[in-house]
Amino acid sequence: MTASIQDSVRPASTTTRSGAPLSLDGVTFRYPSRRRAGAGVGPLTLDVPAGEFLCVVGASGSGKSTLLSLLAGFLKPQAGQISLGGEAVRGPHPRLTLVQQEAALFPWLTVAGNVGFGLRGLNREQRQARVADALRQVGLAEYGARRPHELSGGQRQRVALARALAIQPGLLLLDEPFSALDHATRTALADELLALWWQHRVTVVFVTHQLEEALHLGQRVVALRAGQVVLDAPAKSVSLDDLRRTLEDEGP
Ligand code: ADP
Ligand code: MG
Repeated sequence: MTASIQDSVRPASTTTRSGAPLSLDGVTFRYPSRRRAGAGVGPLTLDVPAGEFLCVVGASGSGKSTLLSLLAGFLKPQAGQISLGGEAVRGPHPRLTLVQQEAALFPWLTVAGNVGFGLRGLNREQRQARVADALRQVGLAEYGARRPHELSGGQRQRVALARALAIQPGLLLLDEPFSALDHATRTALADELLALWWQHRVTVVFVTHQLEEALHLGQRVVALRAGQVVLDAPAKSVSLDDLRRTLEDEGP
């Protein structure tokens, strides 16, 4: 279903690229509206090597989405530094994208229009080629002219993924991207994401509350509790029981 990168005819600008290294140094963020300790994250110090597939797990409210919003530049840390490819992340960046649980697609645009939306500095042909390539990679080559409401939930998430790939990100951020989908679709999409990652070696930070999914997908797993890292280990070295126990220690 997923077109192989070698098979597809693509412009030179879309050859395989690698991800950027991500680094967090003492990153702290607290929501100003909350005085309660724990409403936020940090201090977090974390190095994600270029091309790593990192999964972040944690119970609801543990700070996973806050972390991704910081990485995407949507929130500014009150302390500490985030850098991507050696450059400080200071705000939203055209080559940084976040895929969320509900694909935030523009309903009035076609699938191709949505995928091409964030592309800047390209002429019409380059843009069309980039969009077609991204859609082919997620198995939706024939769907460019459809509207989002004509797609299944799984297909909409594929479009969101295509939109993210189209901008050729150094870092791909995914916030529980498959959790609203049925089990079979979720598994299929997870495996397609892995295949795409193998091809592109983009750096991935994938957030999920599903521990099996994290261990299946990630090379490395980080567990968050109340905004703090409570486990950081290669996925191969962690069992599902370990991970469950670490997160269950949470208390009320
Ligand atoms: P997760 O994604 O792991 O469920 P979040 O990052 O959404 O967790 O939330 C972490 C903590 O920050 C929670 O205590 C949550 O209630 C709080 N929080 C999240 N968003 C906001 C917000 N916009 N304003 C105030 N507090 C928030
Ligand atoms: Mg969340």
